[in-house]
Order: sequence, then C-alpha cells, then structure tokens
Amino acid sequence: MEESPMNSKDELPVLVFATHNANKAAEVERMLDGRYRILTLSDIGCDEEIVEDAPSLEGNARIKARYVKAHYGLDCFADDTGLEVDALGGLPGVKTARYAGESADAQANMSKLIEALNGVVESDRVARFRTCICLIQGEEEVLLEGVCEGRIALKLEGAEGFGYDPIFHPNQEVRTFAQMSPVEKNTISHRGRAVRKMVDALLARFE
Ligand code: IMP
Repeated sequence: MEESPMNSKDELPVLVFATHNANKAAEVERMLDGRYRILTLSDIGCDEEIVEDAPSLEGNARIKARYVKAHYGLDCFADDTGLEVDALGGLPGVKTARYAGESADAQANMSKLIEALNGVVESDRVARFRTCICLIQGEEEVLLEGVCEGRIALKLEGAEGFGYDPIFHPNQEVRTFAQMSPVEKNTISHRGRAVRKMVDALLARFE
C-alpha cells in the first residue's frame, strides 16, 4: 500500500542531509511533502570533520554522502556549491568558500574576486553558480546538478543572502542575488534547481 503523507514521522523513510544546518534540512523536508524524514549530521551524532578534498564539486558531494552511508548505514544526500568564472578558468570553483584563504569571510572572498576581474569588461565577466547533489539510497547513487548562469559585478549591491550574492547578477536580471527576496532567489538559484530535481526524483517513486 502506498504510504500516506499523514504517517507519523517515525514511520517515514529517513534521509540524512550531510549538513549541520537545521534550516536547510527543514526546507527540504517541507518540499518533500511529508514523505521523508530529513535528519542532519548533528541529528545522527556525526560531529567528525569530513574532509572535502576532491578536485570537483561532484567529488566533494560524493565524499560527504559516501561517508555518511559507510559510517552510519543510512540513506543520505550531500551538496556542494561553487562559483565558476570563465575569465578565471573556472575559479574559484571548488575553492569558492575559501577563495581568499582558509578563514576568509564573504567580504574578503568578494574583494579578491573583484580584484581578479579588475579591467575585465562586463560581457567577459560570465560566471555561474553550480550545485551538485549526491543522493544515495540503498545501493543506488545518483548525481544531480543545478546551475544559475550570470555575471560578476565589480561593485556590491544589496543586503540579502550570503556569500557572493552582492556581486552575482543572474542572467535576465538587473538585480544581484542580494537584491532579491529569499523566495525569488530560490526560484532561479542553482541550489533551488538542484534540490527541486532531487525532490522530483524522490517523489516520483510514490507515483
Ligand atoms: P556550500 O557548498 O553550500 O557550502 O557553498 C560553498 C560556498 O559557495 C559558500 O561558502 C559561499 O561562499 C558560496 N555560495 C554557495 N551558494 C551561494 C549562494 O547562493 N550565493 C552566494 N554564495 C554562495
């Protein structure tokens, strides 16, 4: 018999989201319409650092998901996001979080990127945010991707969001990500697209 979305949480299939961020997990759980229970790394007592040293976003998402599966035996998914700037040969890419150094904050990362693109005309400041998700259920492992194409601004605009949002203009938008509401951003963002692909794939199993 098909499971009802009204099932108590204990009866739902569990999926671990390889993150400590409870808000991110709650958001995915809501999108899954009560069909799955989403747990974070903190929920399963995984406090150890998972070393993400792959040369690609796909590789890092895979490392995190495979770690959870191997050590905790639970179905899970992990994401990894990077900003790829064509004029810089795809940098910062896997180094996006730490572009200006190990303990760099968003301001330092943006300053370094603006400096690297100094003198580059807007039409050549093409970039994209890319999110890769690795989903493991039982023996099956799938990779999903969400992309948001845009360009880099040399001046910060907007106060919403995080990371590189004040200097990222999605295509067909005069505003930066940091000038959009979270809901607007989620509609077109790399992460929103990747998560919706995964949610569609998971919900399709109930049809
Ligand atoms: P993570 O894989 O989600 O931790 O993302 C890695 C890094 O990419 C973050 O530390 C941010 O600097 C940057 N980043 C990821 N998503 C976004 C976004 O939606 N806007 C701006 N920066 C982002």
